[in-house]
Amino acid sequence: MNNIKINNSLTGKKELFKPITPGHIGMYVCGPTVYNDVHLGNVRTFISFDVVYRYLIYLGYKVRYVRNITDVGHLLNDADSGEDKIAKQAKLLNKEPMEVVQYYTNGFHEVMRNYNNLSPSIEPSATGHIMEQIEMVQEIISNGLAYEVNGSVYFDVNKYNEHNPYGELSGRKIEDLLSNTRALDGQEEKRNPLDFAIWKAADESHIMQWNSPWGKGFPGWHLECSVMSTKYLGKTFDIHGGGMDLKFPHHECEIAQNVGAGGGHPVNYWMHGNMLTVNGQKMSKSAGNGFTPVQLKTGDHPLLEKGYSEMTIRFFMLQSHYGSTLDFSNDALNASEKGFEKLSKAYETLQSLTPSKENTVDIASLQQKCYDAMNDDFNTPILIAHLFDGVKMINSINNGKANIDEENLNKLKSIFNGFLFDVLGLKIEQNNTTSNDISNELMDVILEIRKEAKKTKNYALADHIRDNLSALNITIKDSKEKSTWEIN
Ligand code: AMP
Ligand code: ZN
Repeated sequence: MNNIKINNSLTGKKELFKPITPGHIGMYVCGPTVYNDVHLGNVRTFISFDVVYRYLIYLGYKVRYVRNITDVGHLLNDADSGEDKIAKQAKLLNKEPMEVVQYYTNGFHEVMRNYNNLSPSIEPSATGHIMEQIEMVQEIISNGLAYEVNGSVYFDVNKYNEHNPYGELSGRKIEDLLSNTRALDGQEEKRNPLDFAIWKAADESHIMQWNSPWGKGFPGWHLECSVMSTKYLGKTFDIHGGGMDLKFPHHECEIAQNVGAGGGHPVNYWMHGNMLTVNGQKMSKSAGNGFTPVQLKTGDHPLLEKGYSEMTIRFFMLQSHYGSTLDFSNDALNASEKGFEKLSKAYETLQSLTPSKENTVDIASLQQKCYDAMNDDFNTPILIAHLFDGVKMINSINNGKANIDEENLNKLKSIFNGFLFDVLGLKIEQNNTTSNDISNELMDVILEIRKEAKKTKNYALADHIRDNLSALNITIKDSKEKSTWEIN
């Protein structure tokens, strides 16, 4: 079962995946900062890691999947200054910060459900782990790698870099980083502009604050992930994921904190999902191109020609590899809509195929190709291409141009059930247009039977039909020419 290769962002190489404990996997993915609605870019990253999680489970691994909720410490400029994103929103809406957190966490969960992402095994929040964060700050200080100034504690990047390669994940050199960094206002407390806050002092106006050995304050953004991954997965664990934009500084700082607290390098395989872009520009709320899942569904956004279903969008995303950028366009989504419909129809046809005994097609190689695609760094577009090979087979068997025996038919069904549903997490959607069409046609049939009944003077049956439909709030209106119906 274990021949998966993962493109490890730490080494930049595809490496054979070896879990620390055979059969068990610890996986941590950075979750959302719950201060506004998620946009489709965020959704892409969570779908990418949902598929990783699903495939590992499919192979029989026991996976502990931790995905956090960031509800404190993420400041507006993603660095060490500006307001806390949650606190700012709370002030704006005149709400308690935890009301903001709850509201957007609920919304996030709903989006995850609609896109058919599995829930993580543990979903810890930063505010639920303040004590542990204070403890880690103390450990880093006692190892001589952090210093306190005016109630804030900063990680000493230069000191760390004497013995550890700061920048190893993002491929940056400390000298280059330094020459590109200018001292920011309000950051005079730092010994070095690259130092980052692991604890920040809070003044009276800061609405989210806790007591600490350094006075009242709140944790730095990067710290929560170091603390919660260690707490739930151990000092070293298998897989850490997140979007590419988190590589630096967030993940780089996470490594430094874990090493600085005496834990050693925390992660064996770093994985980064690439960005969803619109006209080549990263999708984000601030760029105005970050439409929400609701807008996508309704089509209510200037960039959208119409609304798209969640499964169309999921399929669209899985048609590109998680490590590649994916550019949003209506054309691409329309093509995905057609493609997914084709797959769904073939799945229905598959259920109605009858096995025969002669000249059967052989499914074994198709099955192996599906595993190979996923084993090759979770290559979903290649997997989908193989599923379309399966569609061709299904259609030629259905058209009588090929045969399949029972064993191969069962295998083909298990490929579709396994890879399409369990691994890719797609669902056959109830097509509303189709079901409306069917309802209309069924009503035509019923009215035709009633007409026949009246013709043959079987009034009991005609009344029976009318009364039973009436109980369903459907009224039949008889006229000389024909009968019509309407829903009350
Ligand atoms: P945030 O709530 O901003 O911290 O983001 C949550 C997750 O979404 C992180 O893993 C980000 O890397 C990811 N993300 C943000 N924007 C995009 C995008 N345009 N495409 C893909 N992932 C994104
Ligand atoms: Zn994180």
